[in-house]
Amino acid sequence: MGTILDGKAIGAAVREEVKQGVAALVAERGRPPGLSVILVGEDPASVVYTRNKEKAAKEVGIAGELHRLPTSTTETELLALLRRLNDDEAVDGILVQLPLPKQIRADAVLDAIDPAKDVDGFHPVNVGLLASGRPSLVPCTPLGCMRLLREAGIPLRGARAVVVGRSNIVGKPMAQLLLAESATVTIAHSQTRDLPVLCREADILVAAVGKARMIQGDWVREGATVIDVGINRDTDGKLVGDIDFASAEPRAGYITPVPGGVGPMTIAMLLANTLSAARRRSLARHAHDLCQ
Ligand code: NDP
Repeated sequence: MGTILDGKAIGAAVREEVKQGVAALVAERGRPPGLSVILVGEDPASVVYTRNKEKAAKEVGIAGELHRLPTSTTETELLALLRRLNDDEAVDGILVQLPLPKQIRADAVLDAIDPAKDVDGFHPVNVGLLASGRPSLVPCTPLGCMRLLREAGIPLRGARAVVVGRSNIVGKPMAQLLLAESATVTIAHSQTRDLPVLCREADILVAAVGKARMIQGDWVREGATVIDVGINRDTDGKLVGDIDFASAEPRAGYITPVPGGVGPMTIAMLLANTLSAARRRSLARHAHDLCQ
């Protein structure tokens, strides 16, 4: 029987750490970190996500601000808002909720966010820093997965890791983070051959595909650590992951449930990223002042 990696409990602990860090920063610089969340349009899931992000920020003392723009917003208008937020000293973190309406190019928008305020870690500068093993703002979901592995004390050095999925948001940064911890990493995707055989080699198996219960228990090596990033609805409308939990759990050493595994870690790490962006910006300003 696999030990459950409880993202709800670990996420709550991260939020508490952030709350304390925020209080310390307020004492030091007299104002809380600021997080601006931008939502364009009315996508129901995005409305819920952005509200949750703003609410979670406020709960730990971050000044969360939700900018809701109409579906008809042009790229030029959104870029103008980003310029204003980039220049606003009180804003430490900026997040644009994806997906964007079709008239707006997501790449142009993500590229326009100040990398120092890019709390989602999607700006090419942060992607490049992560790839070259330098300090950066790292995408929240893979950062949350790493925290789960760390809390469980899973050995990473030399471990065989298979990441199924190669998105910029989850798969690729997850692979980079595991590599940075000296795991031997394979990235699988829709064109990968013999996926079950590959998965069976993994000490650490991360699924970030978006296909309900695709990965079966007999793809899981006895004792492996299984991290399920997927959030899907099955045919009965039930929320399930990419892993078939019922058949995988008896074989796994550790496993994340869906819901209550990776999901709660994502918002917790967004708050952690906002605090670290605020700290770095304070340090940079301090260094700048010293040089004046
Ligand atoms: P994407 O759709 O961007 O990427 C999916 C990846 O899975 C692609 O790389 C794709 O390969 C690969 N894939 C698709 N089908 C197969 C297959 N049959 N075999 C192997 N690989 C396959 O999704 P995301 O990375 O954005 O999200 C993945 C899942 O994680 C979704 O369920 C999403 O809802 C969830 N998610 C959860 C979060 C959380 O907080 N828990 C946060 C973000 C996402 P290819 O590149 O070849 O097309």
